[in-house]
Amino acid sequence: MGNENLWAPWRMQYIRGIEPDRPMAAQQQAQGGEQAGDPMQAETGCFLCEAAAVAPGSDEARRRLLLLRDTRGMILLNRFPYTSGHLLVAPASHVADLPDMAPPARAHLMELMTLAEQVVGLAYAPQGFNIGLNLGRCAGAGLPGHLHVHVVPRWNGDTNFMAALGQIRVVPQSLDESWKQLNQALQAIEADHDSTPADQSPDKGDASLPPGS
Ligand SMILES: [Zn+2]
Repeated sequence: MGNENLWAPWRMQYIRGIEPDRPMAAQQQAQGGEQAGDPMQAETGCFLCEAAAVAPGSDEARRRLLLLRDTRGMILLNRFPYTSGHLLVAPASHVADLPDMAPPARAHLMELMTLAEQVVGLAYAPQGFNIGLNLGRCAGAGLPGHLHVHVVPRWNGDTNFMAALGQIRVVPQSLDESWKQLNQALQAIEADHDSTPADQSPDKGDASLPPGS
């Protein structure tokens, strides 16, 4: 039996979204139009490709919980989090498996995973992380066509009595509050990088190596 969130109003959107016999128009009407076009509601299409297509920094990007988008990839909040601060890191292109990616894209994915860990670390100060990929539906991938890395903060004792006894997780913070907190952390990390004399960005290759290496 899998864990369920105790308080998770966004869960209803997800459940409505996977009802197979319900027309999209009826679903959107039922949601008062507010969530019309929600990527998780799409019958076809890929919410990661759709997130990659919106302008970074726009209201639409925030609505899609996008934290960062660069030429090769993106970092966004998981709309169905295991815990506050649960991020997804994905390539910008629709690829299902690591061997389908070019080596520079894979290397960049690792850089984004590293940045995601830093962002969650600064925002939430967790004591550990689970970072990983679910490849294929049988392995738990909710969106098997577009690979994405889960970055999940962990704390000592976060398997609390609710989870131990009731198979229930408590997600204490709204997604909007989480987005604000994580975005602040990202801005602080990027400002810190910008003030560093040697450019540490992953696209600069050897520029970040120390002298004499
Ligand atoms: Zn995609």
